Amino acid sequence: YKTIPVSKSDTLELKMLTDSYNDMMLTLKAHDDNQQAFIMNASHELKTPLTVISSYARMLERFGKTREDLLDEGITAISEETTRMKYLTEQFLSFTKVTHSDTNAEKEHIPAVKLIESIASRLEKVFKRNINIDSGGTNPYVYVHPPAFEQLLRIFLDNAYKYSTDDIDVSVDETEKSVIVAVTDYGIGIPKEDLNGIFTRFYRVDKARTRKTGGSGLGLSIAKQLAENNDMDISVKSIVNEGTTFTLTMKKEADNGEAE
Ligand code: ADP
Repeated sequence: YKTIPVSKSDTLELKMLTDSYNDMMLTLKAHDDNQQAFIMNASHELKTPLTVISSYARMLERFGKTREDLLDEGITAISEETTRMKYLTEQFLSFTKVTHSDTNAEKEHIPAVKLIESIASRLEKVFKRNINIDSGGTNPYVYVHPPAFEQLLRIFLDNAYKYSTDDIDVSVDETEKSVIVAVTDYGIGIPKEDLNGIFTRFYRVDKARTRKTGGSGLGLSIAKQLAENNDMDISVKSIVNEGTTFTLTMKKEADNGEAE
């Protein structure tokens, strides 16, 4: 075969092309590994309720017609585990959706306190617990995608509910440029060494404990992604056995929709 003479600049260009191709392949591989890890974790989570359901189904097949006590137990277990699977599937879908969506186009100027009040009053009924809102008389505007803001707040409030037994406090503060929303509970708290990990998908401080509370380990990673999509910052402070505060900081907007 024939050798084609190449100039120095051709070689350089070829090297640059090869380098960027390699970079691209590395990015694709990382993306793929990430996706694979997600699928593995998700399948693992679904396996536990599925195992329970299938063993109760088999038990009912054999004894369901003659043992009424087992019939009740089986139906309750199957129904509970199905609810859990439904919740997990919703969380998986939600995670996939937020990591693949750009909510920029759908942002609106909204009064923060009003939105928080309506979310909290709905959740108070579900939780059957007080959610105290302290806004210090302020009512700043924020520029966010309202469903994303609601989902974010719900994640913090759901966690506050799951990991504490008392009232939950929500405060809204404003500085010249920012609005700061904090959700505080007085529950079990998070050990210092776990504070960084909790935003990682499927991370749980204590698997056994979380299974009882029905979590998925995805809530805070969804929150992190939602916050990123909406230019917000999340921070957390916690003391074991005293409680936890999740703080959301976002840009303040003038009432007319112009950033201040
Ligand atoms: P989960 O669905 O398991 O609650 P999250 O991603 O929302 O998943 O939270 C990750 C972990 O962080 C939880 O499993 C829990 O151990 C811990 N955590 C989150 N919020 C709180 C809180 N308010 N109090 C105590 N622990 C919390």
